[in-house]
Amino acid sequence: MSAFDVATVRPDFPILGRLVHGRPLTYLDNAATSQKPAVVIEALRRYYAEQNANVHRGVHLLSEEATAAYERAREVVARFLGLTSSRGCVFVRGATEGINLVAECWGRTHLRAGDEILLTQLEHHANIVPWQVIAERTGAKIVVAPVTPRGDIDLLAFRGLLSARTKLVAFTHVSNALGTVNPAAEMTRLAKAVGATVLIDGCQAAAHFRVDVPALGCDFYAFSGHKTFGPTGIGVLWGRPELLDTLPPYQFGGDMIRKVDFAGTTYREAPERFEAGTPDISGAIALGVALEYVMPIQAAAHAHEQALLAAATARLRAIPGLTIVGEAAEKVAVISFLIEGGHPHDIGTLLDADGIAIRTGHHCCMPLMKHLGLPGTARASFAFYNTMEEVERLGASLEKVRRMMA
Ligand code: PLP
Repeated sequence: MSAFDVATVRPDFPILGRLVHGRPLTYLDNAATSQKPAVVIEALRRYYAEQNANVHRGVHLLSEEATAAYERAREVVARFLGLTSSRGCVFVRGATEGINLVAECWGRTHLRAGDEILLTQLEHHANIVPWQVIAERTGAKIVVAPVTPRGDIDLLAFRGLLSARTKLVAFTHVSNALGTVNPAAEMTRLAKAVGATVLIDGCQAAAHFRVDVPALGCDFYAFSGHKTFGPTGIGVLWGRPELLDTLPPYQFGGDMIRKVDFAGTTYREAPERFEAGTPDISGAIALGVALEYVMPIQAAAHAHEQALLAAATARLRAIPGLTIVGEAAEKVAVISFLIEGGHPHDIGTLLDADGIAIRTGHHCCMPLMKHLGLPGTARASFAFYNTMEEVERLGASLEKVRRMMA
């Protein structure tokens, strides 16, 4: 584990120096999107200032440089996911597009009437709605594994819902609403035992700890660049290459073809097969830079975040009338909460006046909120650049809110 000092990383994030309503920004909305280090911002500038050219098609120097940088970013992604080959790493717009791609390409060709798609109650809408649409089209059925009142997956129930009918199991590695870390390797193992294909939504996990895709044993893994200190508009879908190669393409056009003839067209293998048209070249390059920034500090950053989680949980628990929603055995630094007599939106607005950015509402998890009997929550989500002082600022501000609402 390399040494980690939050004071040394904060200056890497220019936005953290700004004021909000005259107060220092306390950014606790990292589960929605993370802030970007200067190296990422500079990578975007540099690409457009010095390298801008289309990839894969040019023989001139700029195109060769852009292509090399784009493909190098794919290698970085592979390393970030613990893979020895980047062949299965497809650049997409984000986790949402990655999951839609699997629903469309794998779901349409592999699901039949009577098949079951097993999801969990923790899922983000991005890992529910694409499956609903594909279920409607194929006649497959959606089955949902419950969570316990603490916010853990009910593993016994999950296991009980698996059968020979289960063709796909799709679940989030980490819950964006409650912070729950799912036992992803164990869930995958159980799903594989009934012959199911497994997709893991890694959107929230990738930002918090090292992901080892081979150790998880899944077939697909998706995450978004913008939640992982990279730019918006870029993300990754990893799929087992030999499986990706058997799937019909997602979109059609340049770059993904082997040979085009009006008599018929043949397609390339993964990953190009799924990257029709000009990709987000600068986004991919800058994502590579973001991942290279976090990899050396990942383990120490995670330990720091766990300390923030413990301190913030204790600080919030001590506030009368405040209830923490979601106290799973293993969590990332995400705390959902309610204050007696206060609507989450009002809590968010009052904190904003103190320069504290949190998120309120259903967090794109309406089925989970319904299960918990809540219209929504207030959510503070931390990154490794947050500090103990910010935990205290949140606590003090919430005490003020609590007094106003009492
Ligand atoms: N899955 C989870 C668990 C998320 O938290 C999010 C975003 O909040 C998504 C999927 C969708 O990510 P994106 O909007 O970047 O595609």
